[in-house]
Amino acid sequence: MLAENLRNVSEAIQAALAKRTEKMETGDTVCLVAVTKNHPAQVVSEIEALGVQNIGENRVQEAKEKQEQLGHAGRWHLIGHLQTNKAKQAVELFDLIESADSEHLLRALEKESAKLDKITDVLLQINIAREPQKTGFLPEDYEAMLGKLDELPHIKVRGVMVIAPNTPDAEVIHAVFRQGYAYFCALKKQRADIDFLSMGMSGDYPIAVEEGANMVRVGTALFGARDYSNRGY
Ligand SMILES: *Cc1c(COP(=O)(O)O)cnc(C)c1O
Repeated sequence: MLAENLRNVSEAIQAALAKRTEKMETGDTVCLVAVTKNHPAQVVSEIEALGVQNIGENRVQEAKEKQEQLGHAGRWHLIGHLQTNKAKQAVELFDLIESADSEHLLRALEKESAKLDKITDVLLQINIAREPQKTGFLPEDYEAMLGKLDELPHIKVRGVMVIAPNTPDAEVIHAVFRQGYAYFCALKKQRADIDFLSMGMSGDYPIAVEEGANMVRVGTALFGARDYSNRGY
C-alpha cells in the first residue's frame, strides 16, 4: 500500500516536471518530504525503508517523541507554526525549519542557535494569498525581513515556503505558486545558498512542481487520512 502510494506520487511528480515549459531556476529534481504528522513513529521507519529520507512534522513535541523512539535518521523538516518558547527544541530536533514565519521567531532561533554554536537552516514562509487564518510573512514584511538577515549570523536562509489557498480553483493555485517561484528567483539573485522552493501538499503538489517547486510536502497521498480523534489537537 505505502510502496504503491509512493510510486504514484513519484510518477505524478515526474509527469508534472514533464509539463514545465521552461528550464527553471529550481533545477529539475524534486525533494519529496513525507509528512508523518499524526501517524505513528513506525510510519517514519517504513517510508525511510522505501528510500524517502526527508520527514515532515508540524509539532515539536511529536517529532521529539518519534526521535526518542527511532533516533534521528534522515532529515527532519519542521513545517508547522513554531512558538518562540519552543525555538530551542526546534533548533535541536530539526534539520530544516520550513515555517520561519516572523521576525520575532527568527530572532529567537538566532539566539538559541548561537547558544548551541550552530547554524540553523530555514525557509521563509510567505503568506502570498494574505490569508488571515494562515501564518507566514505578508509580502511586505518578508521584503523588510530580507534587509535584516545580516543581523542573524546563525540563521541560514535556504529558500522559500508557500502554502496555497485551499480552493478547487486550480487557476488561483497556479497563480500563487507562480508568485512563489518569482520570490524564489528574486531571492536567489540576491543571496548565496538559496536552494529550496517548498510548495505543494497532497491536493496540489503536481501544480506546485509544474510551477517550479523543488520540494513538496506530502502526507495524505502517502499515508492516507490522518486520525485526529484521539488527540488533543
Ligand atoms: C499537514 C501539512 C502538509 C501535508 O498535507 P497533506 O495534505 O496531508 O499532504 C503539508 N504542509 C504543511 C505545512 C502541513 O501542515
